[in-house]
Amino acid sequence: MEQIEIIEKTLEVFKKCDVKTFPIDCLKIITGLGIPLYRYSDLPEAKIRKCLQVSNDAFTLQGVIFYNDKFPHKERQRFSLMHEVGHIVLNHEGESFGNEKEADLFASNILAPRSIIWHLHFNSVKDICETFNVSCMAANRILADYKIFPLWEHKNLHKNIRDCFFPYTHTTTKIATEKESDYYDNESDFLKVHRFIVGEEYIYSNTEYFHLHGSVF
Ligand SMILES: [Zn+2]
Repeated sequence: MEQIEIIEKTLEVFKKCDVKTFPIDCLKIITGLGIPLYRYSDLPEAKIRKCLQVSNDAFTLQGVIFYNDKFPHKERQRFSLMHEVGHIVLNHEGESFGNEKEADLFASNILAPRSIIWHLHFNSVKDICETFNVSCMAANRILADYKIFPLWEHKNLHKNIRDCFFPYTHTTTKIATEKESDYYDNESDFLKVHRFIVGEEYIYSNTEYFHLHGSVF
């Protein structure tokens, strides 16, 4: 499955579960998707022991997610939960390296959409940890991926994800239009301003050239 298809799935989930704020509410997403969810502490003692043998964090069994509500590392568990949701929404069958990688990609992108990192001008692991409530280790990987992520491809998809969290309201659109019209009444005015700026830059760079190399005349 292509990475972009996995990111499309995250948008589907945001819309279906009405997710609008960060850090995303993992339990709201699981219940919103209608995925049965059990806390270890709700199970009988013998079953808890069996669950802990499978994972001390979280796991999926036949479309049902079990999670250890006493697990101390909440940021890590958020990733595990979204990884498990990934297996379900990506219709994975059986275990394979490819499936694990896809579930990780899903978790990473649903917890910290790259378009939001771009929108908020984040450039540090700390920003990512604090805003998306992910572990430092995950934030490191997210930031490294973000730096090489081709956001310009599939622009509309990324814009739609951004709009789930930062929708353009009528007011902001109106302000932007008014502000712009002060400077650019019509296209020819805009071009005049543009030519002025470009021209000025041109003169400046020429001046610098002459300063450094002496006049060519
Ligand atoms: Zn897995």
